[in-house]
Amino acid sequence: MISLRHITKKFGQLKAVSDASLEVEKGEIICLIGPSGSGKSTFLRCINGLEEPEEGEVYIDGKKVDTKAKNPKELEQMRAKMGFVFQHFNLFPHRSVLDNLTLAPIQVLGVSKEEAEKRARELLARVGLAEKADAYPAQLSGGQKQRVAIARSLCMEPEIMLFDEPTSALDPEMVGEVLDVMKELARGGMTMVLVTHEMGFAREVATKVLFLDEGQILEQGTPKDIFENPQHPRLREFLSKVL
Ligand code: ATP
Ligand code: MG
Repeated sequence: MISLRHITKKFGQLKAVSDASLEVEKGEIICLIGPSGSGKSTFLRCINGLEEPEEGEVYIDGKKVDTKAKNPKELEQMRAKMGFVFQHFNLFPHRSVLDNLTLAPIQVLGVSKEEAEKRARELLARVGLAEKADAYPAQLSGGQKQRVAIARSLCMEPEIMLFDEPTSALDPEMVGEVLDVMKELARGGMTMVLVTHEMGFAREVATKVLFLDEGQILEQGTPKDIFENPQHPRLREFLSKVL
């Protein structure tokens, strides 16, 4: 459903992503791993047009995306199919949890308030936060905020979810509750691409793991290939540090 072909993204002289390609099929769970600064976030952001690559093409459902945004409407429609969850939750601080979940469906999708609230409450229940609908973000723990952020993305009925280190800003005891929600999503058949340092999660849930180093995909394969039989010396070195 998504195809990135020979993507290169530069910042000045620096090639943050260099000739990287990726095919995402429906229902796949793709994990991007690699050292800090290896281009994982940049590559992920190229998927939904948050970054505009200098070279290469992005195809969504066989249709080439105009990443140069000559047609902003098209880019907007493409983004609407994708949920994006960041390390920091980016909730609206002065809005209740329920409002955080319903604003975009009402304003962007044109869903009625009643319908949006009904769906929001269902999704809050799904992430274990039914009783927090009227709370404000400041009253929630980090793990709860991140679960709200995931529920908020799901309110837009995305076809694919992108996650950039969704657990790395959390206290260790809260990581599990967020990973559980993500595992649940994966089991439900959601297509996901995520940057993660949670190697246990990648091992258990990923259909494919990509190892990036200095902007290049040095190795890719099943979790078994990557974790049990790594080939590239840089991957071996990386794994020896993180496992
Ligand atoms: P981390 O694990 O620390 O999040 P990463 O693998 O996500 O790292 P990126 O954030 O994609 O790495 O960055 C790749 C390279 O591009 C880095 O050298 C970074 O400094 C650089 N870079 C990223 N964003 C920008 C920007 N907006 N302007 C200039 N350089 C950037
Ligand atoms: Mg990053």
